[in-house]
Amino acid sequence: MSNTNIRIAVQKSGRLSDDSLKLFKECGIKFESGGSKLRSISSNFPIEFLFLRDDDIPGYVEDGVADLGVIGLNVLEENRKDVEIVKELGFSKCRLSLAIPRNEVYTDLSYFEGKNIATSYPNLTNTFLTSQGVTAHTHEISGSVEIAPSIGLAEGICDIVSTGGTLLSNGLKEVAEVFKSQAVLISNKSLTAEKRSILDKLTFRIDSVQRGQN
Ligand code: ATP
Ligand code: ZN
Repeated sequence: MSNTNIRIAVQKSGRLSDDSLKLFKECGIKFESGGSKLRSISSNFPIEFLFLRDDDIPGYVEDGVADLGVIGLNVLEENRKDVEIVKELGFSKCRLSLAIPRNEVYTDLSYFEGKNIATSYPNLTNTFLTSQGVTAHTHEISGSVEIAPSIGLAEGICDIVSTGGTLLSNGLKEVAEVFKSQAVLISNKSLTAEKRSILDKLTFRIDSVQRGQN
């Protein structure tokens, strides 16, 4: 009997965490989570959990520090890491959208031609605008993106929206969707045969949980 564990990175605390832990528990995998613990080995499945900042997860999976990870497709596509997407997980659904001050008149995407857009997602924003024939300047900021227009940093923003409440309270309106996201399970591209067979068992269980929800 081998004692190989597959190692999976999940977000320590944030909008991916609760549903990630819930999914693995529904798969019948027992492990401890919460508190200050950053690693946890399951008592009944060959898996070890690492609890990390979500942004670091794709890089760890690419490097093989973790074999698997749960990450928002938005973060994965923005950072363009060389990993395999195993499956969509159906939670943490959100969208990346362009927004402008509420009192501006918006016609179409040409509105953004030559304008400055503040975003934490410059690659996704530029890819979208270029595909639509629009050339704009992205200005990367790491947080509080919604404040940018009111302080004169940019004319528009491109940010994650779920309900639109944050936009509204900052005097902004959503005008175009750039990218749709949800949580995905990713894997390192060169898993050993042994780890691949553990991954197969895991995805089999995830499939059953997902079938039960439909
Ligand atoms: P960390 O401190 O780990 O870096 P974070 O602030 O970057 O956390 P969260 O806000 O927890 O990240 O969001 C994690 C992911 O959850 C996002 O990258 C996105 O895929 C998804 N997400 C973001 N906002 C929402 C939302 N309002 N509803 C559902 N999912 C969301
Ligand atoms: Zn993050």
